[in-house]
Amino acid sequence: MNALLSVSDKTGIVELAQALHAAGVRLLSTGGTAKLLADQGLPVTEVAELTGFPEMLDGRVKTLHPKVHGGLLARRDLPEHMAALHRHAISTIDILVVNLYPFEATVAKAGVTLEDAIENIDIGGPAMVRSGAKNWKDVAVLTDASQYEGFIAELKAGAVSQKTKFALAVAAFNRISNYDGAISDYLSSLQEDGARSMFPAQSNGRFVKIQDLRYGENPHQQAAFYRDLYPAPGSLAVAQQLQGKELSYNNIADADAAWECVKSFDAPACVIVKHANPCGVAVGKDPLEAYSKAFQTDPTSAFGGIIAFNRPVDGAAAQAVRGQFVEVLMAPAYSEEALQVFKDRPNVRLLQIALPPGGATPWDKGQNFMDVKRVGSGLLMQTADNHELQLADLKVVTKKQPTAEELQDLLFAWKVAKFVKSNAIVFCKGGMTMGVGAGQMSRLDSARIASIKAQHAKLSLQGTAVASDAFFPFRDGLDVVVDAGATCVIQPGGSMRDPEVIAAADERGVAMVFSGVRHFRH
Ligand code: 5GP
Repeated sequence: MNALLSVSDKTGIVELAQALHAAGVRLLSTGGTAKLLADQGLPVTEVAELTGFPEMLDGRVKTLHPKVHGGLLARRDLPEHMAALHRHAISTIDILVVNLYPFEATVAKAGVTLEDAIENIDIGGPAMVRSGAKNWKDVAVLTDASQYEGFIAELKAGAVSQKTKFALAVAAFNRISNYDGAISDYLSSLQEDGARSMFPAQSNGRFVKIQDLRYGENPHQQAAFYRDLYPAPGSLAVAQQLQGKELSYNNIADADAAWECVKSFDAPACVIVKHANPCGVAVGKDPLEAYSKAFQTDPTSAFGGIIAFNRPVDGAAAQAVRGQFVEVLMAPAYSEEALQVFKDRPNVRLLQIALPPGGATPWDKGQNFMDVKRVGSGLLMQTADNHELQLADLKVVTKKQPTAEELQDLLFAWKVAKFVKSNAIVFCKGGMTMGVGAGQMSRLDSARIASIKAQHAKLSLQGTAVASDAFFPFRDGLDVVVDAGATCVIQPGGSMRDPEVIAAADERGVAMVFSGVRHFRH
């Protein structure tokens, strides 16, 4: 048996070559890989020796030769193929180990030049991988170091199964497709001035299945959950499920809404989501306090909710959550005690996700950080709504100035409103939501619903801060929230009727600040 090894990433290659050698396999290899193996005392034949051609053109041509591709592509079950090999003194290549020039890593570097990128487009590697994978019944193709161990174990046990070889071939074609996709993405993103566009001329979104789902949004729809090829750290796609029933389609959609919202707070926070909208959000001194406050906003809606924390859940918080019907619980970690609390609630799904490391995430990793929405046979893409409002951005437009405490509540309300479907009206006080009006076609109705919800929850809206995700087109929405008890309001401003709305706020004696940004969310 012959194995050809040609790898850029040399991880684990020596151990693999040693195992192949011990199994009596002859080793063929290209320049750099051959040198490494020879340095380790392994007998290795250079491909240049096999083909009778030196590697040339700076390595652009190394393995592109009939002695290599004939050995990979010949069907062992066809006598004509084998006779042709014999006539041309070509040996079969039965095991191919290739990983490619690091194109993805090269273009992820800041300041990469087109020349650099082009030199990192592997030609011979993908050609060999395709040849070997096409002929998978006779050739085992390894394209990733993570495959070596299992392969060696099978080889040692006797023979590598057809099932394994087919799986390796599928993985090989996936790898080539992703590699070519990365090249296409990069080149499609280049603009005339050499800078890269966030929205390339062609987008090659690639996704990997995490799991099939029992059904979609409704039982008659089929569904599966996919993640980005390179998922962002701290995203729902990298969550680990510690216990509980299988996640449903709606669970996943709601969990994402809860997690994205809770992640945006620095203080210990809790977010309860129902039907993709937060129905309770609060910060507190610890997870227990945050949860208790969030729950009070709307205990009726919280039933069967998705609950997310941005701090490890301790025993006390777990006990409190256990008192309600909860579908999914999410947190960066759980104490031993917290895990024990849910041991006898096997239906509760516990998800653990590490919070993302701080700092901005570079957009050049592709569409991971894009917000996408399907429309017909098309796709709307936009950068994520990650605007963070600072105290200094606020512009007070009324005679009345908000107090320091009110300013804190306004910022809190604003943060929550960003995660509520439009039209969004959010009443808050003391770091908790007091009434959430979501997803209405009129801002006025959202305002009314938010105050009705507060009444249902027996919460007083006296002295509350209100956030409106977009401007008040008329004074009527403002009147509704002030009638309900609000004493300060935050909204983007920018309406034709701003003067009228500001005058109304002055007339009612409340403070109003403009954020200058809008947070539509549909
Ligand atoms: P080595 O470090 O062994 O010199 O080179 C290994 C790399 O060369 C692998 O990433 C492999 O995919 C790549 N390679 C093998 N044959 C060819 C070829 O003919 N042309 C090009 N451009 N790359 C090749």
